Amino acid sequence: MDKKIAAVTGGNRGIGFQICRDLAKKGFKVLLTARDPEKGNRSARNLQDEGLDVEFYLLDVISTESIDKFTEFVLAEFGQLHVLVNNAAILPDEISPALSVGLEEVRETIETNVYGVLRLSQKLIPTMIENNYGRIINLSSGMGQLSDMGSGYLAYRVSKTALNAVTRVLAQETSGYDIQINAVDPGWVKTDMGGSNAPSTPEEGADTVVWLSTRPAGEPSGMFYKNRKIIDW
Ligand code: NAP
Repeated sequence: MDKKIAAVTGGNRGIGFQICRDLAKKGFKVLLTARDPEKGNRSARNLQDEGLDVEFYLLDVISTESIDKFTEFVLAEFGQLHVLVNNAAILPDEISPALSVGLEEVRETIETNVYGVLRLSQKLIPTMIENNYGRIINLSSGMGQLSDMGSGYLAYRVSKTALNAVTRVLAQETSGYDIQINAVDPGWVKTDMGGSNAPSTPEEGADTVVWLSTRPAGEPSGMFYKNRKIIDW
């Protein structure tokens, strides 16, 4: 198979859906994953109707069983995965100040936004090392940036800061290979999560992610990007 394979978590809507579209337009075979088969199938069909090579796969990032099934299937079917975009995430509705946030909310947010990324990486990076090729892009947020930390949204902020640390450690452990693992702040984007007042479109939010998915060997790994530029952690 000549085409590179890319998988996107939470690909059924928002920025993830746009990333699926843009990667397919760049010539990837895209595995659009979602936790809900109906939504995932519908979104994949919409992109197929645009003539794009996109297929739906079931993947709930809080389920270890789901992650194991998905990764084992992908490796058996395609032998390797070239690009993994860890996009799926939740942002709890509450403003959740650190002084009063419930621990259950913190646990649930970290479980979705961090543990799934780590488990998927553990399952897929060994084959990337064997093939000496891989690009992993983790959708982070300015809300996880320690150099510009605000108040409230404790669970979400902590989850994205932790995701940034996971990004950096994995990048260190894969240095020496043609593997690039980076985090991206997509900006404030008009989606269900970002809301209708957000200034950026999903196309703009997807841009740096898609760009990092196609960088040549020798480009930075273990960095935090926004608008194609490295930013402070
Ligand atoms: P969104 O519109 O809320 O979409 C979130 C996606 O994640 C949905 O497809 C959702 O699936 C999926 N998801 C949630 N939990 C999941 C699970 N357990 N397993 C699989 N999929 C799951 O969010 P978005 O605005 O597109 O954000 C995409 C990424 O960018 C996130 O990582 C977010 O933190 C980050 N980000 C967004 C903004 C912004 O302004 N929008 C800003 C900074 C960072 P369902 O449809 O099944 O719920």
